[in-house]
Order: sequence, then structure tokens, then C-alpha cells
Amino acid sequence: MGQPLIDTHCHLNDPAFDSTLPDVVERAREAGVRGFVVPAYDRVSLKRTADLSSLYPSAIFPAYGVHPWYAGDNINYDILLSYLRRQNTVALGEIGLDFTPDAPPEPTQIEILTRQLSLARELNLPILLHCRNAHDSLYQILKGYWGGIQGVMHSFSGSYEFMQRFIDLGFFISFSGSVTRKTARKYHRNAQAVPLDRLLIETDAPSIATESTVASAVEPRHCVEVARKIAELRGIPFEDVGTGAAENARRLFHLP
Ligand SMILES: [Zn+2]
Repeated sequence: MGQPLIDTHCHLNDPAFDSTLPDVVERAREAGVRGFVVPAYDRVSLKRTADLSSLYPSAIFPAYGVHPWYAGDNINYDILLSYLRRQNTVALGEIGLDFTPDAPPEPTQIEILTRQLSLARELNLPILLHCRNAHDSLYQILKGYWGGIQGVMHSFSGSYEFMQRFIDLGFFISFSGSVTRKTARKYHRNAQAVPLDRLLIETDAPSIATESTVASAVEPRHCVEVARKIAELRGIPFEDVGTGAAENARRLFHLP
């Protein structure tokens, strides 16, 4: 086995993991997944994320930000900033745009996104991006920060053409359980085409199903299934995908 895998986006801060976390972490370790980037998404999850990173200082790497679904909440940027300035913070996120019908109004989302992008640039933190049905708008906004911000398109759901554009802006492309599904042709094509030095692996647990497991039962250990599928799609050894993606994560997030 190559070096341990890193789940670059999992919500171990989700209340769903409250009582199972020690077992989830242990099962991940046994499967060879030993690092977890855990993004906050709203006001309440900020503290929970910080607490988890103190409980598992060498495994849980915290990120802080406000997700577009919570764009309508009363956001206190001073509090967010105090978390972002903590010494072990590895990224700003989860932030982004979600133009699906039930999400908050687009202008509100764009306003909180751009405020957080400015913070990321100021603090020199990489960003974790959520993007649904909004790839062109997000691309246009990020273009304005070209060279000034690094980050990840998390569980990337866009077209091959958009993937290329985000790569050209310097972003990493992260694959989740979506790519493991047999019929997910767009994801398969993207996983075959992404340069190995821009590839990341994640589960987004507990939100995205894999071919083998329903969403609510997905844990960081399922990173192995994601890496295996990508290796199969590319016709290369599993270790090359796992090791390559882990090295990318270490580089991007400055992990120990
Ligand atoms: Zn997420």
C-alpha cells in the first residue's frame, strides 16, 4: 500500500456522526484513510468543527466557512474570522454557489461568496467550493481572483469543458462517490481526463452515495472505493491514484 488516503471533504461535524465518530475514525484508519478535511457550513458547525480538530489533532483538519444554503442566515464575519485565524485551520469553506430551486436568492449567495473569497485571499487560505447549476457564474467570479486564490472544486459535477476551465484557473478537482456509479458517464470522463497532479478524493460523508452504499451510511473509509474506481477508469494502479491524491492534498492544505 502507498501512503494513507486523505478524505479531503467529509462532514464528520454532522450530527449524524455524534455517537459513532470514534468507530468511523477507526474504520477509516483500518481501511487506510488517515486524514480528514472537515468543513464547517453554518454558524453552529464552526465550534463543533474546532472541537473535533482538538479531539483528533493529527487526523481532523478543520475548514471554516458559510455554505450557500445558509447564505440567508445572519452571518457574523468577526466570529468566522476568529476561527479562520486559528493556527490549525487548513482552508476556507465550504463556500460556493447553488442555483438549484430551493437555495437562497442568487444575489445573497454571491454577496457572501465574494466576502469570503476576499477573506481567503487576505489570509492566504485555499478554498473548498460547492457548485450546483452555477458553474458559469462561479467561473466568472473566480476569474477575478486568478493567481490570488487556490482551492478545490469539491465533488465536481460540471462538464468536461468547465473542468478544464477551473483547472486553467489553478483549481483542484475532487471526486466523491458520484464517480463510482455505473451510469455516471460525465464523472467517468472527468476522472479519466483530470491531470493526476490536480486530482483529489473525498466522500462528502454523509451526503453522497457510492455504488455500494447509500448516502447516509457513507463514511471516510469509502474513499477507497472512490480511488479504486478512478484507478479502474484510468487503467492505472490503485496506489498511483491514492498516493497522488494524498500528495496533492498535503501540498494544497499544507498538511503535516
Ligand atoms: Zn460538503
